[in-house]
Amino acid sequence: MLESKQQLRASYDYVIVGAGSAGCVLAHRLGVAGRRVLLVEAGGQATLPAIADPPEWPKLQGSDVDWRYVTTPQPGLGGRIIRCPRGKVLGGSSAINALAYQRGHPAAYDRWPEGWRFKDLLPYFKRAETFSGGGNAWRGGDGPLHVLSLADVADRTPLASAFVTASQDLGYRMTSDVGGEVTTGVGWNQLSIKAGRRDDAATAYLGSVENAAIDLLMNTQAAGLAIEGGRCIGVRLAERMVRADAEVLLCAGAIDSPRLLMLSGIGPADHLRSLAIPVVSDLPDVGRHIEDHLLVAGVAYAAKREVPRSHYNHCDALLYVPRTDPDESPEHLVMCLSLPFVLPGVGQLPAPAYVLVPCLMRPRSRGSLKLASADPLAPALIDPSYLSDPADLDLLVEGISIARDIGAGSAFADWRAREVFPGPESTSPAELRKFVLRAADSFHHPVGTCRIGDVVDTALRVKGVAGLRVIDASVFTGIPQAMINAATIAVAERASDLVLAG
Ligand SMILES: Cc1cc2nc3c(=O)[nH]c(=O)nc-3n(C[C@H](O)[C@H](O)[C@H](O)COP(=O)(O)OP(=O)(O)OC[C@H]3O[C@@H](n4cnc5c(N)ncnc54)[C@H](O)[C@@H]3O)c2cc1C
Repeated sequence: MLESKQQLRASYDYVIVGAGSAGCVLAHRLGVAGRRVLLVEAGGQATLPAIADPPEWPKLQGSDVDWRYVTTPQPGLGGRIIRCPRGKVLGGSSAINALAYQRGHPAAYDRWPEGWRFKDLLPYFKRAETFSGGGNAWRGGDGPLHVLSLADVADRTPLASAFVTASQDLGYRMTSDVGGEVTTGVGWNQLSIKAGRRDDAATAYLGSVENAAIDLLMNTQAAGLAIEGGRCIGVRLAERMVRADAEVLLCAGAIDSPRLLMLSGIGPADHLRSLAIPVVSDLPDVGRHIEDHLLVAGVAYAAKREVPRSHYNHCDALLYVPRTDPDESPEHLVMCLSLPFVLPGVGQLPAPAYVLVPCLMRPRSRGSLKLASADPLAPALIDPSYLSDPADLDLLVEGISIARDIGAGSAFADWRAREVFPGPESTSPAELRKFVLRAADSFHHPVGTCRIGDVVDTALRVKGVAGLRVIDASVFTGIPQAMINAATIAVAERASDLVLAG
């Protein structure tokens, strides 16, 4: 493995920008196929102990392994600025995320183009994983990434059991595997954990890096793409250029992939000209169509007794709720958190406490991302335009009601002292809407800034520029109705076959 820039080869077959969820998959698959690969990552080794220890994940936001991005002030949230954490470390956001590993309902992928629907991705979801419940028609049994179903453990928190019972009492069905045939209803969480430690994209996919033809250049931020005569020939670093004989694969994530494209002259021509960036390819949709899940933190309860700490990610059970038909794709997710998670603007929770968190699974609002300047080190202007579609606000209010119905159930009688937030006095839709404005937060799942069809073709090649693909969550043409790391990994798995096929 490379330690210094002096050891770089003169050129590589592929230069990959970003060793996150997608970049690690690509490096592994191309490396074991014998391609010469350079993987360039702005962050370093994952040495912080909190990365490996699942319950410690909340400490990673705002730490040195987070890019610490924020949104522009959000008018839909009363002008609040929302944190937009992104992993800056080997493994990228998969090394700082909350470890939930979910595929979501197959119907969410109906909005994706042919070749990227759920039936097309299922073999790649399976190829990626070793599922704790074993392989079957839906699950993988021997992939690089270990997925632990909390159905298979004995030490789930008893609070989660109360949540499951309360949900069932309201008529929601129990699903034994939320990533299997039945993806809606109440179930135990599934997490990227191997032998008690986080299994992120780097631990899962780069373990064999020493044996493969991969050079890894860490602590190195790509400044842009080198483009000559309509072809991407390499990647610009601060002091030099690294050359790709075959292709450059941009895997910098939904925030930094569009930023790097625009810095390199690929994006909306008028925006680029306004910053004196020469236009290489006028692609108006670069940076547009951001979709992100919003959650409400949260429906919070003072507890009668100590709430045992989770051994996992503090959400041992969750519920996916479709609108009408239980087999439909879900509109809501409700998570049961054995931790006092409320935003500072909501107020102070007395200890002990627990929180039910409703999340919007099909946001209607769409935002955009622009360059703040032509400086390669300047963070982008991120504007997800949360709640710009009024339907999202109504749906979050509906989600609060679902969470409250569960929280009020008799199964919680041994736990519930009283509801603290929104608080028993907040009952009218108008009061709950006001509460959402204070309590809504990002679920940290931005996608769609370089969508297939708009910015890249169905083989993920950037339109108008040869030798360049974008492969990460930015190419999603619709947000999955679940957390999105599993989908990012499946997309990268399929993309690796496309790249190898030339
Ligand atoms: C706090 C948090 C919690 C989350 N929780 C969950 C969860 O529980 N479950 C789930 O499924 N999803 C979760 N997510 C989302 C999920 O982890 C990400 O969507 C997914 O990892 C994105 O993968 P990616 O490959 O698109 O980008 P990333 O994994 O972010 O990878 C991008 C990589 O590119 C690098 N990079 C960026 N710019 C440059 C540059 N100029 N030069 C060199 N390198 C660069 C970055 O440092 C990073 O390593 C969470 C995200 C966050 C931030």
